[in-house]
Amino acid sequence: MKAHDGMYIDGAWRPAAGRDTIAVVNPADEQVIAEVPAGGAEDVDAAVRAARAALPAWAATAPAERAARIAALRDVLVARKDEIAGTVTAELGAPLPFSQAVHAGVPILVAGSYAGLAASYSFEEKVGNSTVYAEPVGVVGAITPWNYPLHQIVAKVAPALAAGCTIVLKPAEDTPLTAQLFAEAVHEAGVPAGVFNLVTGLGPVAGQALAEHEGVDLVSFTGSTAVGRRIGAAAGAAVKRVALELGGKSANVILPSADLARAVAVGVANVMGNSGQTCSAWTRMLVHTSQYDEAVALAAEAAAKYGDRIGPLVNAKQHARVRGYIEKGVAEGARLVAGGPEAPREQGYFVSPTVFADVTPEMTVAQEEIFGPVLSLIRYEDEDDALRIANGTVYGLAGAVWAGDEAEAVAFARRMDTGQVDINGGRFNPLAPFGGYKQSGVGRELGSHGLAEYLQTKSLQF
Ligand code: NAD
Repeated sequence: MKAHDGMYIDGAWRPAAGRDTIAVVNPADEQVIAEVPAGGAEDVDAAVRAARAALPAWAATAPAERAARIAALRDVLVARKDEIAGTVTAELGAPLPFSQAVHAGVPILVAGSYAGLAASYSFEEKVGNSTVYAEPVGVVGAITPWNYPLHQIVAKVAPALAAGCTIVLKPAEDTPLTAQLFAEAVHEAGVPAGVFNLVTGLGPVAGQALAEHEGVDLVSFTGSTAVGRRIGAAAGAAVKRVALELGGKSANVILPSADLARAVAVGVANVMGNSGQTCSAWTRMLVHTSQYDEAVALAAEAAAKYGDRIGPLVNAKQHARVRGYIEKGVAEGARLVAGGPEAPREQGYFVSPTVFADVTPEMTVAQEEIFGPVLSLIRYEDEDDALRIANGTVYGLAGAVWAGDEAEAVAFARRMDTGQVDINGGRFNPLAPFGGYKQSGVGRELGSHGLAEYLQTKSLQF
């Protein structure tokens, strides 16, 4: 696998300040496939200085020119789609067809959407006797996780570029090769030097240095709630803007009038896709007591069929963590109807698609984000009971509602404390705001709402 031994700073690949490296491991066979530099505070400082120096010129660029650069970036992502998919498969472990369709495909859609928005967005409006300008926030420190490595980068960098901000990216240590490929794409797209910079490194070292750097105006973070809380606290102390995209424990609510077989099939696929490493996955399936046994049988069958199509988890730590959660589910009295804690293969960080029945809302597997291919089926007595269970976690990122009648599903969805709900299997929309209620985060990504996160307003009175 191709890897750069430097950082992409100020338009060029430069040697890291130190000699530390990070080994990149293929989770399907546990082999080291590359080494990348583990940057530190000095590298972060150089990158932030480059971003700061590039800010005035980029912020003053006409929106049409920014749109043209983002469109060019989208075109490079299209041209290098196979290379992107292969790289994500090598370092994340996702099966190649999933990498092609989702890991490479979705960022192309999102980059395209921001090329359009940069050109069409109103960066100026009249309010009575005032003109209100939407101006870039400034230098963005973007910290991203490994589970959708390119999507999470593009969902921050594309709107930041559209807004006229400059960026320093610190990607996850498990998936730095995808980030290096992205930096090459930015370069090829003709984005001016210093507008986008990449520092690879460890979270508590390079990530923390970036989040705390006084030259950063906005920290945009996606990852665990534990780290998000610390980043939010540091940003608060520095009176700095912050956007947090954190965990989830979403409910898939199947109302009695729904097409049960379809709702269960789509629900199982939603949880098992990307090996369950999706923050918005519907990991709790809520089924009316009259249909519960049938739903359990359907879910167990669907999970068993999923079998070999599932990829490994990203690393040994997640492998141990997810298997620990499955053991905990058993210990707390949930009933395993598919999968289990045993590793299905000798090599690679694989976990079998796992389904728990007889899960009660207070069990650990129903409350905590597992981040693996584990689905919990929970029984409800009536709609109010379903709503209480659906809203009964600290999270509120996503969810689903199924009903025979769309209006019935919408009425239920409006009572859910969550940021995104799919009605009867609604399709992904790259322009719809994505983000959390409650402890799932602060702020929104994607579409015009995502662009607004990178803007601040100035009003002039006449
Ligand atoms: P994490 O929060 O530790 O890592 C996410 C990013 O933050 C990475 O780039 C990491 O290097 C960086 N980081 C880590 N510590 C930091 C610090 N002190 N300061 C600044 N940056 C720091 O997540 P993880 O360890 O990769 O995964 C652990 C759990 O987090 C998962 O099991 C899952 O529950 C959750 N998670 C959620 C999402 C999501 O999309 N919501 C994504 C990944 C992981």
